Amino acid sequence: MTKFSDFALAEPIQKRVADGGYTTPSPIQQQAIPPALEGKDILGIAQTGTGKTAAFSLPAIHHLLTDKRRAGRNECRMLVLAPTRELARQIADSMTGYSKGLGLFVTSAFGGVPINRQKRILERGVDVLVATPGRLLDLIDQRCLTLSKVEILVLDEADQMLDLGFIVPLKKIVPMLPKKRQSLFFSATMPKTISQLADQFLTNPVQVSVAPQSTTAERVDQKVTYINQDDKQRLLKDFINNENPDHMLVFTQTKHGADKVVKNLMAVGIHSAAIHGNKSQPQRERALGDFKKGKINILVATDIAARGIDVDGITHVINFDMPNVSEQYVHRIGRTARAGASGISYSLVAPDERQFLRDVVKLTGVKPDVIALPEGYDEPAREEVAPRIYGQKPKKFGARPTRSGPPKNKHSSRKGRPGGGSGRGGPGSNASSDGPKHWNNGAKSFKRRQARKADA
Ligand code: AMP
Repeated sequence: MTKFSDFALAEPIQKRVADGGYTTPSPIQQQAIPPALEGKDILGIAQTGTGKTAAFSLPAIHHLLTDKRRAGRNECRMLVLAPTRELARQIADSMTGYSKGLGLFVTSAFGGVPINRQKRILERGVDVLVATPGRLLDLIDQRCLTLSKVEILVLDEADQMLDLGFIVPLKKIVPMLPKKRQSLFFSATMPKTISQLADQFLTNPVQVSVAPQSTTAERVDQKVTYINQDDKQRLLKDFINNENPDHMLVFTQTKHGADKVVKNLMAVGIHSAAIHGNKSQPQRERALGDFKKGKINILVATDIAARGIDVDGITHVINFDMPNVSEQYVHRIGRTARAGASGISYSLVAPDERQFLRDVVKLTGVKPDVIALPEGYDEPAREEVAPRIYGQKPKKFGARPTRSGPPKNKHSSRKGRPGGGSGRGGPGSNASSDGPKHWNNGAKSFKRRQARKADA
């Protein structure tokens, strides 16, 4: 088995790694560190939680140390581009840890906080700058930063960059970089648009890839309940009261939806916090900090804000709204079951979200257990599938149906039918002979399993 000492990493870096408690390199580290140490470009398919930060940071720190020189004024030697503020900060924190005491200066720059402090820091020149594309361009426009001396470029979470509309800033950044440099490019998925973007950044890259999308999903105990949209809030509240989750991440599709969940929970005395793009940076950091420290047990997030949330021990992920892109589901539930641990995910699927669930099952190959609604809830309305008219183009993939689409059939004739109206063998059903489990049993059995594991 490969050990960190097998890599040609400088001694002090080996020591930092050991101090950090890492013994065995993760698969992405095993694949990426040797070619990166040789100065090769890397095209990596890996998501957060795989150890990719160390995979690109350790060889880069090695290079910065062995070829030691001072960064000039308003220059950086290494540039890491990340899509979100949280991820940028997290990468900067990790790199500061990996290079502690080695005389390298690591800093981050992102929006939502005053720019002046960032300008002052950059004035002196830094070894490593971790930045989001928007703020980076602001700093360049204000002549506080030049990229002409970048030796190593990392582009992290490229697919998220594109989702967030960073393609234009990225295209502006490429020509500002020196031609002679090392580039490392990471993305959780590699559709054509991403590989085309990668071509612009990389030269003869070594391709590394770990854990196809579906494998994380396999470790998570996935459950689904079919429910009317209007009843989701009540079910969430009941679930929290019954389960008392330690560390629960709730995903909503919109920022407004996240705030609404927090408000409604607050109204019944349940404390939680929301994290999304409309929150100021201090608010986001406070929410994340409180969640990490266990001051609050519930964090409500949109997909974008949740990217890069690196919190160990998340016990539950709730899909309050189903994501309309299947890969996002894998990212979401991958927030739990980190570092080989298990976790539980519950998806609350409204009638107009059933197609999203079918897409997820197709991607992951895993059919979540269907958990019946508890007593006192109306069975969800029947899914309304628009008839496909010959010659008409099918709806664009990923287009989210309007919430007003399917009729709300509160008194459906399917009332009382197990499986929340979709019936056994319906989408995502485990089609078990004893029908759907009761909604609370799944979570209880999860706790029992956790307890058994702790005993073992
Ligand atoms: P990342 O994918 O870079 O966000 O890393 C996910 C988590 O794994 C972080 O908490 C890292 O500190 C941790 N980690 C990274 N590499 C290793 C390793 N070789 N052994 C143990 N933990 C690691």
